[in-house]
Amino acid sequence: FSSKLPKVKTTIFTIMSALAQKNNAINLSQGFPNFECDELLKKMCNDAMVSGYNQYAPMAGVMELRSEISKKYESLYNSSYHPESEITVTVGATQAIFTVISAFIREQDEVILFKPAYDCYEPAIEVNGGKVIPIQLNRPNYSVNWEEVQRKISNRTKMIIINTPHNPSGAIFSESDMLKLQELTNGTDIILLSDEVYEHIVFDNALHESVCKYAGLKSRSFISASFGKTFHVTGWKVGYCCGPKELMKEFRKVHQFNVFSVHHPTQIALANYLKEPCHYLELNGFYQEKRDLFLDLIKGSKFEFSPSKGTYFQNLSFENITNEGDIDFAKRLVEDYKIASIPLSEFNENNRDDKMLRFCFAKKSETLRRAADILNLI
Ligand code: PMP
Ligand code: GLN
Repeated sequence: FSSKLPKVKTTIFTIMSALAQKNNAINLSQGFPNFECDELLKKMCNDAMVSGYNQYAPMAGVMELRSEISKKYESLYNSSYHPESEITVTVGATQAIFTVISAFIREQDEVILFKPAYDCYEPAIEVNGGKVIPIQLNRPNYSVNWEEVQRKISNRTKMIIINTPHNPSGAIFSESDMLKLQELTNGTDIILLSDEVYEHIVFDNALHESVCKYAGLKSRSFISASFGKTFHVTGWKVGYCCGPKELMKEFRKVHQFNVFSVHHPTQIALANYLKEPCHYLELNGFYQEKRDLFLDLIKGSKFEFSPSKGTYFQNLSFENITNEGDIDFAKRLVEDYKIASIPLSEFNENNRDDKMLRFCFAKKSETLRRAADILNLI
């Protein structure tokens, strides 16, 4: 047979986490916390199972959860998504993203993607016959060249995917980025997919710029989001998708035959947990402390960095350390130094020149200290 995705290999997250385990290394590669979620959230999930929420959930998600999500958009962004018709609960953001792309991308449709890009967008576009139009983000701050975007928008452009805060760079879009995007797509039918899984992890008093704050964008946009990042439960794989009614109707046509519905007891737990005082508001400070601790601990090392503006990732440049490629260097760090990271070029196969590794700081202080002790020796 001929592969529909000949370029695709096992993801770097799987490879590096397995390598970390094999070498008994500190794992700052794949992005997940090594501390527990709130006991109350676990209890709520357990209670939901004990109370009998063990059969299929409604296709679009538990209504109470959708209502809580809708309230969040009202209170944070003054933006309204109708829980009945404009919010769907998904198996993590990954499924939301795949479903948006499958529902809209046809053979030869063009999708503009900023590189480096998180790894799940491109295969989803290609398996649906779409064509990726890559745009390299400007170094060193990973900003967008909007003139290039303007040049690359064509009558085949079906979708633009944005991701703010951005994995892997930790960059965030400003209000002026959003206004530029709005101006360039105004009057077109281009659909926007805004991956906002790190919306509650933004530092130094910056504001998260959601597409839903911009009326001209919101009417053509989907948002993908993930409870995994927000409540320290990446293994629960529950997220959601928001979008205007007419677009969401198409999304659900695919969703209902792909997964139909999502794990029921976790949805009940998340709905109840969201009714508690809003912990996600504390997440910025919580992760900023971790970022600052990590950076303070390694400030004397040979690695160079500019502080991450959002997400729970920090990139470190190793330009002063070695001429090796980032993949080789990352592998050597696991094997010889017992510390695992992600080589940035894995998110950017056409540009493997970045001498940069991504480290996840969603870790206990003690883990960050042990990691820093190693990084300071390199
Ligand atoms: N988008 C980005 C930018 C991510 O970093 C991740 C997860 N690391 C996802 C989507 C997928 O989220 P989930 O685990 O909820 O599927
Ligand atoms: N999104 C996580 C990261 O960027 C990994 C998720 C996964 O392993 N697929 O590290």
